[in-house]
Amino acid sequence: MHPFSYTRVSDTAEALSAARRGGRYIAGGTTLVDLMRETVERPRTLVDISTLPLREVTVTASGGLRIGALVRMSEAAAHPLVRRTYPVIAQALELSASAQLRNMATIGGNIMQRTRCTYFRDVTAACNKRDPGSGCAAREGFNRTHAILGTSDDCVATHPSDVAVAFAALEASVHLLGPDGERAVAFADFLLRPGSTPNREQALRPGELITAVEIPSLPRPLKSGYLKVRDRQSYEFALTSAAVALHIQGGVIREARVAAGGVGTVPWKLTAVEQALLGKRSSQTLWREAAERAADGARPLQHNRFKVELLKRTVERQLRVVGGTR
Ligand code: SF4
Repeated sequence: MHPFSYTRVSDTAEALSAARRGGRYIAGGTTLVDLMRETVERPRTLVDISTLPLREVTVTASGGLRIGALVRMSEAAAHPLVRRTYPVIAQALELSASAQLRNMATIGGNIMQRTRCTYFRDVTAACNKRDPGSGCAAREGFNRTHAILGTSDDCVATHPSDVAVAFAALEASVHLLGPDGERAVAFADFLLRPGSTPNREQALRPGELITAVEIPSLPRPLKSGYLKVRDRQSYEFALTSAAVALHIQGGVIREARVAAGGVGTVPWKLTAVEQALLGKRSSQTLWREAAERAADGARPLQHNRFKVELLKRTVERQLRVVGGTR
């Protein structure tokens, strides 16, 4: 590990000031400290923001949900408001990481976490994300767990978060505080596809701090849930996953929110699936036909072709679970 200095701040003004001097925010530290040990990340100054007052879950004026950036994953998963209004968020959190990690990691840190591509974490391997211009060892290497959607010639790594898939499905927004004040960014615009700059992963301006994630109000009754398919049942990242939220009235689907994880370079909103569902009467046939659109545009690699069919089946199964089997 490289030498670094550490400072703890007690308010947001102090945090922004420390960031302006080159500091790097840390809260739970469950990703960053690992990466520092592996020398993938080498920040010179860590700014500990873990005691800032960003730890509340509240209902917004428009009836949506606001989750403070420093709410722990386990706190959010157990929160009655989250469980009652958006079970898909609670389920995605409960299926993530381990109990110990969920007790430390924060919502803000979770969406900021970096890829689990093994070549990214191996400092001897070529990796455009870690070392721009060096190449991508995964493209011709062992790429079974890599992305099939949103890839580029320069990077094919998946985004590892589960709860980010739920946020993408629900069309959340990320609230930021920076030197120029506050702003909100649509979740779909916050995490960036790799393109030719895979080292740039979020639409953050220098020094900006995530303060909260907001989920808009959706028509009720709303049924939602998260399905994660992985090589083992615990402490493992998704091969494929599906976050589904449906508003069904009289058997007809009036609102549909669907996104996939484990398959995209960012949490992947399944717009074609949503469109295939809207205004239709729920049925087994509809779930199957809509799920057929889940892998539209997929570009599988040598070792991950199985993800195309697995994604369709994951989405179909979760549509059936959330929407019922009529
Ligand atoms: Fe690096 Fe992305 Fe290639 Fe993995 S897939 S080696 S993160 S450039």
